[in-house]
Amino acid sequence: MAAPGHLPTSERSDTPLGRVFVAGHTGMVGAAFVRRLEREPDADVVVRSRREGLDLTDRVAVDRFLSDVRPRTVIVAAARVGGIHANATRPEEFLRENLAIALNLIDGARRAGVPRLLFLGSSCIYPRLAPQPMAEEALLTGPLEPTNEAYAIAKIAGLKLAQACRRQHGLAYHSVMPTNLYGPGDNYHAEDSHVLPGLIRRFDEAARAGAAEVSAWGTGAPRREFLHVDDLADAGVFLLRRADPPDWVNVGSGVDLTIRELTERVAAAVGYRGRIVWDTARPDGAPRKLLDVSLLTRLGWRARIPLEQGLPETVVAYRRERAAGTWRH
Ligand code: GDP
Repeated sequence: MAAPGHLPTSERSDTPLGRVFVAGHTGMVGAAFVRRLEREPDADVVVRSRREGLDLTDRVAVDRFLSDVRPRTVIVAAARVGGIHANATRPEEFLRENLAIALNLIDGARRAGVPRLLFLGSSCIYPRLAPQPMAEEALLTGPLEPTNEAYAIAKIAGLKLAQACRRQHGLAYHSVMPTNLYGPGDNYHAEDSHVLPGLIRRFDEAARAGAAEVSAWGTGAPRREFLHVDDLADAGVFLLRRADPPDWVNVGSGVDLTIRELTERVAAAVGYRGRIVWDTARPDGAPRKLLDVSLLTRLGWRARIPLEQGLPETVVAYRRERAAGTWRH
């Protein structure tokens, strides 16, 4: 297997990045792209927050911004995201906001003449019971997991809009479908976060309090794959450099584990030694979500940060962010 950056010269293509608008730079994924792009000499990164007047669900504001800034590349890392509880209880918000962000940015970029766009999706776009590991071809072959259907439908619409722009207008708009992400700058909300940050916070608080038991949601039986967000940003830049990337590509680590195994690793990483009780009133969600990453591997990229390294580093980042008062929660 070729190591990243070590492709034969014939397969290498150095499409220029130019001015890059990273939409969603205050989130975990957008911030990772901004960090990664600092290492690309030809990338001139532009960001604009909601506080600075850019609401990505506002079409007029997005149009004005794109025509002022004239990016060469747009990275759509903005989204309304959340864990199983947030997704399952607020489907209207997740569908509407993510549809609006995808439409405003992809269609806005097309009308502003932006030649290159990378849209960020999610592994939950694949059917709940897709054959594992899930290949790109599994898209639209069966019913979605109900707990995140709203989010998935918005992401499928965005992926298809990018693909349609490419097919009908010849624009190099394409997508990446990451597996469950984690890393610095994650959201540690007690109810709305994803499993990994949710467990880090609860188990760390239990360890500090010397609690005898702590709860984890569901049965612990579902299997999940985790990818460090810095790996995702690296894969995104790798694909943006290609002249002819696939319409959408899975990005994962290629390995999964049960939620039960994950809780044990989190407990060890934060130093929690009490009991773990399973709150089976909480949903399990999809039984398994492991991406088939062979397409991206064939293109010459693979993940470099294993969970054994990324999890303890993320615990350190979480403690630092929390102590500094900058943590999102
Ligand atoms: P999903 O991958 O879309 O299902 O979203 P999550 O990351 O929220 O949840 C993944 C799995 O972890 C589900 O089976 C949850 O029931 C389980 N889980 C266990 N403890 C927690 C927790 O504290 N927070 C969250 N969000 N999920 C948890």
